[in-house]
Amino acid sequence: MKRFHFSTELAGLLVCSAVLLAACGGHSEISQSAPVAKSKVAYEQRMANADAEPQNWLLHGRTFSESRFSPLDGINTQNVTDLKLAWYLDLPEQRGQEATPIVVDGVMYTTSAWSHVLAIDAVTGKQLWHFDPKVPKSTGVKGCCDAVNRGAAYMDDRVFVGTLDGRLIAIDAESGTQIWSVITVDQTKNYTITGAPRVANGKVFIGNGGAEFGVRGYVSAYDADSGEMMWRFYTVPGGPGDPTGTEPVEAQTATWNGEWWKFGGGGTVWDSMAFEKETNTLYFGVGNGTPWNPNLRSAGKGDNWFLSSIVAVDASSGEYKWHYQTTPGEAWDYTATQHIILADVEMAGKTRKVLMQAPKNGFFYVLDRMTGKLISAENFVNVTWASHVDLESGRPVVNPEAEYWKTGKTALVSPAFLGGHNWHPMSYSEDTKLVYLPAQVTAFPYLADDDMSPAKLAVNLGVDTSAAALPDDPNVIEQVKKATSGHLLAWDPATQKEVWRVEYPGPWNGGVLSTAGGLVFQGSATGYLNAYSATNGETLWQFPSQTGIVAPPISYSVDGEQYITVSAGWGGIFPLITGPLALDSADGHPINRSRLLTFKVGGSAELPPTTEKLRDMPELTTQQLDTKQVAHGFEVYDRYCGGCHGAGAVGGGVIPDLRYSGFIHSAEAFKQVVLDGILSTRGMVGFSSELSEEDAEAARAYLISRNQFAHKIGDTQRLSR
Ligand code: CA
Repeated sequence: MKRFHFSTELAGLLVCSAVLLAACGGHSEISQSAPVAKSKVAYEQRMANADAEPQNWLLHGRTFSESRFSPLDGINTQNVTDLKLAWYLDLPEQRGQEATPIVVDGVMYTTSAWSHVLAIDAVTGKQLWHFDPKVPKSTGVKGCCDAVNRGAAYMDDRVFVGTLDGRLIAIDAESGTQIWSVITVDQTKNYTITGAPRVANGKVFIGNGGAEFGVRGYVSAYDADSGEMMWRFYTVPGGPGDPTGTEPVEAQTATWNGEWWKFGGGGTVWDSMAFEKETNTLYFGVGNGTPWNPNLRSAGKGDNWFLSSIVAVDASSGEYKWHYQTTPGEAWDYTATQHIILADVEMAGKTRKVLMQAPKNGFFYVLDRMTGKLISAENFVNVTWASHVDLESGRPVVNPEAEYWKTGKTALVSPAFLGGHNWHPMSYSEDTKLVYLPAQVTAFPYLADDDMSPAKLAVNLGVDTSAAALPDDPNVIEQVKKATSGHLLAWDPATQKEVWRVEYPGPWNGGVLSTAGGLVFQGSATGYLNAYSATNGETLWQFPSQTGIVAPPISYSVDGEQYITVSAGWGGIFPLITGPLALDSADGHPINRSRLLTFKVGGSAELPPTTEKLRDMPELTTQQLDTKQVAHGFEVYDRYCGGCHGAGAVGGGVIPDLRYSGFIHSAEAFKQVVLDGILSTRGMVGFSSELSEEDAEAARAYLISRNQFAHKIGDTQRLSR
């Protein structure tokens, strides 16, 4: 598993003038600007005052502060039991759905897997237009974490989307036609975009992913009108002779050693950003290093700015303001790309302007967002890599046993690379002053693998990840399942203490919405959308969604009626790579049914009945297998296949479970798929540049052995996908 193949301008003015007079008024530029600029200024004001438009969900996190708190209370603790499906819409691609929809004056803009964009009537669910950016399916192999997309942005009658193959596209919000498109990455490298663009000050901000695949991270700002690049901030120095870089580049370079530029260094900005109008600051989270192993990346030393950091820059120029590094010299895939929330929080009798993040590394950070200085940090899940964060220096006190690249021994570390919290957004309630956080309990045995032989279609992390393919002993699998869990955590950021929790069978549950109705909404891997009491976590309502939900819900209202919407559709990295763990987490719903679900009190829509049936696995017991060939096949599978098709060749419900595949019956057919790429239009590229016929045949032998083992333990029935 080394391969972690892991319109309304007029409406805007009307709302601004009629409803938001107090919020919008007093800005002389509105009355002094020309008519076109007028509406733009008006829309900038609407975004800045998004909190005053509870009926809309104008921005990715609803407001620039990304709190994901809805001030609507039409759906509340009293009537939530009458919450019913209002409408549903099947999404165009059956892969992981992670998008946050945008709602502007009764029109919803959302994305689907493979970067499709849809405009929908928010009351009826009727599709208004569908924009397919036609991402080549062969791009899938460049991504670690499914063909997901986390949403579009909207500004000035334009919808913006970042596509998996690295384009940023502006679409006319009325017609759904493309206005401009720019390529934001070197498409010869393994860059992908899964994150939602952010918009402010006439600019569109976008990052990218690919840190497991040897790329160098950055965030860019584009002019929203022309698509012209305004600035780019590199998170990793370019190395000798590379003129690209970001001030303070000398200070940044001094924290790196070895020849990191050969591997790109990582530090991709693949998800979180937040904007603050008062100070014109863009805050963003930076990902892990590549390779993971610091020996290979940076000669085993140095903090490696700005890996695993929260960075603040001037939104107009991209100029550096400050950074806070959560995991100096990171070595465990501890991205700090997790959701960032800006809030004014009462702490010890004082109101502090804070920035909050719960990154993968398991600590909940509260920073002074004016200075970047750490206020507090406490672990919100079990953490073994560090004992605590020293408040004086702001640095973690690392447990030497976790430093696998120094000890040469296996280090069982919590959290694992999946994180104590992954991308699933949390929510901060203005009412309860609590953060609701999708937490997960994970561990992984890290072991250095200093044999660095980068391949184009696979990753080498400098870490032996073969342990992720669980041994066949059912007792071991049971133990690992028990040690892997997920829960919704209500966390008081002022005191850094847990207030309540809701347990789930496993990790990878959905993002969170909190509302003024005293409710917290979260979908679960188990196939439900749930509503909990914001004060005590009591389950007040559940809806069976027929598939795991990982996306965050949103809320909006039209004509005074409140709605809740969520994208349902099991997927993302967890079901792709963790095999039996993903099946356990999904608790009987390990199947992707990609749909947008919208609820209102007294809704009357119904989902169609499920039709998939259990089927038997074809038996291959007559084959005599060569042990050495199977062992080589495991190595091939582990590096090139397991990142998508699952540890131990157990599919997690999104991508075909190869133990069931008809292709493993025939050496010729298998070769055509694996080497020649006859299924590349469906995302399964040919690996002939990496693998020989012997490698392919060995992988087939390994898969036959997995089929035989499944028969041996009676694990031979799955939904027919
Ligand atoms: Ca990563």
